[in-house]
Amino acid sequence: MQMVKIPISIAPARAALKRMTYDGIIVKSEFVRIKEVATVLDDHINVTIECGIDAQNLVVIKGNAAANLELVCQRCGTGLKTHISTEFAFTPVNVSAEESDERIPDAYEEIELNEFGEVSLVELIEDELMLALPIVAMHELKDCQLKETDMTFGELAPEATEEKKSNPFDVLKKLKN
Ligand SMILES: [Zn+2]
Repeated sequence: MQMVKIPISIAPARAALKRMTYDGIIVKSEFVRIKEVATVLDDHINVTIECGIDAQNLVVIKGNAAANLELVCQRCGTGLKTHISTEFAFTPVNVSAEESDERIPDAYEEIELNEFGEVSLVELIEDELMLALPIVAMHELKDCQLKETDMTFGELAPEATEEKKSNPFDVLKKLKN
């Protein structure tokens, strides 16, 4: 099956009226910001997008994206393979919002159109993927290159603090010393 490239930007209102759906890819070179924090392992990221108008007459762009990445383990500094996925539902704030007094449902993330009445799908999806990244990239202890025995005393590894349910102020004392 031929891979379809997701358009870089779309005009949401038009796409919604046509009920456009996309099941395709974004090549990894488009994701400039992710590249700064992770290595994207596949040549492309799979994305599905569905455009439509909901019961409240709002334009909605929803879909999902998933990527295989290699991050750097914060404990041992070697590669950490990880899979991230995200689901999203956007609604442009300046389309039909004025005609409706109804509140925009919380399930939707509000997006702004650019001067051409379009949104950049690549940017939106990259934002979502960035949010899906783990806050701290770290191997499971059993997979980590740096074993517990190698850890220097006083280092703040989460496992070390879990092991002994000590007074949190002890940790502060250690930091001060
Ligand atoms: Zn590690």
